[in-house]
Amino acid sequence: MSHKQATNRTLTARDLAVLWHPCSQMKDYEALPPIPIRRGEGVWLEDFDGKRYLDAISSWWVNLFGHANPRIIAALREQLDDLEHVLLAGFTHAPAVELAERLISLAPPGLSRCFYADNGSAAVEVALKMSFHYWRNRGAVKKTRFITLSNSYHGETLGALAVGNVALYKQTYQPLLMDVITVASPDCFHREAGSSWAEHSTRLFEQMRQTLEQHAEEVCAVIVEPLVQCAGNMRMYDPRYLQLLRAACDDYGVHLIADEIAVGFGRTGTLFACEQAAITPDFMCLSKGLTGGYLPLAAVLTREEIYQTFYDDYQNLSAFLHSHSYTGNPLGCRAALASLDIFAQDRVVERNTSLAAHLREATAEFADHPHVAEVRQCGMIVAIEMIKNKSRRTAYPWQERRGLRVYKHGLKKGVLLRPLGDVIYFMPPYVITPPEIELMAEVAWEGIQLATRV
Ligand SMILES: *Cc1c(COP(=O)(O)O)cnc(C)c1O
Repeated sequence: MSHKQATNRTLTARDLAVLWHPCSQMKDYEALPPIPIRRGEGVWLEDFDGKRYLDAISSWWVNLFGHANPRIIAALREQLDDLEHVLLAGFTHAPAVELAERLISLAPPGLSRCFYADNGSAAVEVALKMSFHYWRNRGAVKKTRFITLSNSYHGETLGALAVGNVALYKQTYQPLLMDVITVASPDCFHREAGSSWAEHSTRLFEQMRQTLEQHAEEVCAVIVEPLVQCAGNMRMYDPRYLQLLRAACDDYGVHLIADEIAVGFGRTGTLFACEQAAITPDFMCLSKGLTGGYLPLAAVLTREEIYQTFYDDYQNLSAFLHSHSYTGNPLGCRAALASLDIFAQDRVVERNTSLAAHLREATAEFADHPHVAEVRQCGMIVAIEMIKNKSRRTAYPWQERRGLRVYKHGLKKGVLLRPLGDVIYFMPPYVITPPEIELMAEVAWEGIQLATRV
């Protein structure tokens, strides 16, 4: 049967016979089968029965300018006629060169080299390996460890999983993972009443400083998600922490890896989150929104001095011999260039400030809900944390899966919300309109009402 004649029911049945879905307990699909999407347009996805869903989470935070964006499609069509792929070892192509130039010109000052990979986890692996290898090339062979924050997330491959800290994804694989040093996250959800984000984040930095002081000799790098720990329930912290961290990493001779895979490309209100702290990391990992959500691609940007420690005669074996088959894929690079063109032509970062204000207004009343602990926002990300007891701040038992109830209600009403535990969040494509923001908020409100009934 051709997929043109498929219905939700027929495609779902075939799917469940052969597919194994990501981040899923497959048994859950008995009760709630996967939704087959036939087409997308702007913020909307449409299933095979013609039902539409507002993509409030940008298809896992990747989509920036809507589905089926004509400008990105046109760029891809043109690229397809020229070159779909060529290896990037010993060869090069215009999209890879142009994109590296553009990223370097947009990134915080001092990042002058671009290494490509093909997904976020791979970019994190690259940054970890490069940092370790840099110190080795410099003779600092004792440096073999990494510092990470509690509640952090850096991907699912073993190295990335090791430096992450979300127990749900990590715990099972613990025996396979390298040993890391974990420092308490500056997560401002846990700030004391009356204390500001900046005060809380500054106070929490002391533990990081002490850890650096104690372990600098054996540590290659600190890895952080600047400003928002997205997979860690959209927990947020103050830019002050990043400033203190940058200064301390310099003092103690440790690299700073900024994982901007989720927060990059305008999500936090600036093109890159690091800009809000006016810092330059030693490595900046990019993926997700890099291609506007059209193709898998990742990049790691780094400093010239780091690049130079690898630059030597081949026989000295100091080269970075890491590769992925699809490194710097021309189609992915072309989509990324089209996405960056949209940023420039439409002044997207500036324009998003009014969208962010709409998001704030549309969700302001959520804070008064008896089962909402907090509404927090960072640019184009808004998170609403459901809680069992507001005054005592006790969470719902996770087994109750309250967020799943919100998810189901959203689907019924045509809004794709995919809560993280009990945290409902909006991370929409930047082409969302104010009425669509209101619809999204209204459906979330109803969902929270339903989910927090006894
Ligand atoms: C999604 C994510 C990753 C992993 O990227 P993948 O492309 O899913 O491998 C790494 N770090 C952060 C902060 C992410 O949000």
